Amino acid sequence: MTDRTPCINPRCRRTFKCDQEGEEVICGKCFRALPAELRNEHRRCWREYRKWNRRILRTSDPLKALRMHDIRNRWAAMIDGNWDLIRRAVTSPEKPAGLDTFLEEVGL
Ligand SMILES: [Zn+2]
Repeated sequence: MTDRTPCINPRCRRTFKCDQEGEEVICGKCFRALPAELRNEHRRCWREYRKWNRRILRTSDPLKALRMHDIRNRWAAMIDGNWDLIRRAVTSPEKPAGLDTFLEEVGL
C-alpha cells in the first residue's frame, strides 16, 4: 500500500506519505493559519509528551516508570483533545478561511 494521507484541511490539496494507517496530518501552511492558542497548545503538549518519554527511558525504577507512563498518557490525551479542536477549526464550514489568514495573505 502506497497510500498518501491528505492534510486534514479539506480545502487543502497537500498529501503526505502515510506511516501509520488512520494517521491524521496537517501541513505546515494550514498549521500556521491556525489560531495561536491551538498552535501553542499543540507544541506544549508534544513537548511534555516527549519529555516524559525521555524520562521513562532513563529511569531504572519500574514503579516510577509506571507512574510516568500515566503522566505521559495524560499528555497524549491532551494532544488528542487539542487535535480535535484543530480538526474542527480547519473543517468548520461556518468559518471558511478565517479572516486573519485572509488579511495576512493580502498583506494587511
Ligand atoms: Zn494543508
